[in-house]
Amino acid sequence: MGIKVAKFGGSSVADGIQLTKTKQIIEQDPDRRYIVVSAPGKRYEGDNKITDLLYLCKTHIEHNLPYDQIFQVVEDRYMAVEINLGVDVDLLRHMAEIRDNLRQNPSADYIASRGEYLNAILVAAFLGYDFVDTANLIKFDYKGKILIEETDAALKAELAKHERAVLPGFYGSTPDGKIKTFSRGGSDITGALVARAINADVYENWTDVSGFLMADPRIVKNPKQIETISYKELRELSYMGASVLHEDAIYPARMANVPINIRNTNDPEDQGTMITAESQVDSDNGGRIITGIAGSKDFTVVALYKNMMSSERGFVRRILGILDDYDINFEHLPSSIDTVSVVMSKKALGDRLDEVLEAFRQRLQPDSIDVFENIALIATVGHRMTYRPGVSAKLFNALGEAKVNIRMIDQGSSEMNIIVGVENKDFEKAIRAIYDTFVEEE
Ligand code: ASP
Repeated sequence: MGIKVAKFGGSSVADGIQLTKTKQIIEQDPDRRYIVVSAPGKRYEGDNKITDLLYLCKTHIEHNLPYDQIFQVVEDRYMAVEINLGVDVDLLRHMAEIRDNLRQNPSADYIASRGEYLNAILVAAFLGYDFVDTANLIKFDYKGKILIEETDAALKAELAKHERAVLPGFYGSTPDGKIKTFSRGGSDITGALVARAINADVYENWTDVSGFLMADPRIVKNPKQIETISYKELRELSYMGASVLHEDAIYPARMANVPINIRNTNDPEDQGTMITAESQVDSDNGGRIITGIAGSKDFTVVALYKNMMSSERGFVRRILGILDDYDINFEHLPSSIDTVSVVMSKKALGDRLDEVLEAFRQRLQPDSIDVFENIALIATVGHRMTYRPGVSAKLFNALGEAKVNIRMIDQGSSEMNIIVGVENKDFEKAIRAIYDTFVEEE
């Protein structure tokens, strides 16, 4: 028998109806032995996610405001599910314990974690699987950084005792036993850690879309679905803003070479998107050279010119030092003989542009500085682009024909992506032009 780890996101476990679909999916394949669940998410547009309500309780507690009504909404939702599913897990006792803890003003992480905790107890009873709490298995250090090897060992030891289990996503604890959560959407990471520990054949991530699309559907009409994508390609795309999977979930799965399969609970027949190592990508996505296109707007480019810069030692180090002092992440650093351009997101820069420019002037003594604002970056990604001549020519030609002026070009030597900077106003037009050339016309 094989082993599959299946993680179900908030919308897949939002109520009795969704949980019934979830159960059918799990029972369809006996390999689905380890299940990770999120807290119940939205049931309909405008509904509340349990996690949001729990954080809201914490905010009320902090401001000495009554939180009872909010917690009651949480309690009612779980009670309704317990009745709908026809299980009895003594929810009232669990609720009373949480209410007691709320009176002691516990941490936001503790409160938020109860969403997954209660849900996993309910789902375990519904499936007839063991409930395995992750509180002492997912280990963080005191700074809140995941201790990946310690977690792996703890999960391995515990899961060896369970043939089938349901685990709550999103949280673990620090060495003193205090509950610590990942960032939002972090149940994806729990699933990946479990998949690695158990050496799963596949890590299924069940959500409400059938995987990744080649481009943003708000920009490109009916973009094609990505059948297979490598971990690396996904990193290049997620970095630009794709949001189906928490990006920190890729690392543990990749370490153990466990493929991740994004699936849709509302359309279980669809095979979704498979994320694997490059060497294992077994589909050519319909013979297409590119795998996906992603981008975002609002970057600022600061171009520094200095005669003989290339022979001045430490110039780039000093640029990085200044960015470090201001705690600003840069996105790209394209350079030529006497120029270096620093590409930063407007968000990272905040209102500190003038200050940063002054620091550049004083500490780098450049001959001149140019600032270009409102730049959008677009990444065209595909491991099949590697060693294939003519790909960039085709891309630039498409942009030229669409009358998009390219302000910046950056290609990593891995040749897996080509990044172009265009003006914000040309962003959508540029993405459509690239998509049409590489997908529609092929
Ligand atoms: N429930 C948490 C959130 O809403 C974690 C998760 O669903 O992955 O962010």
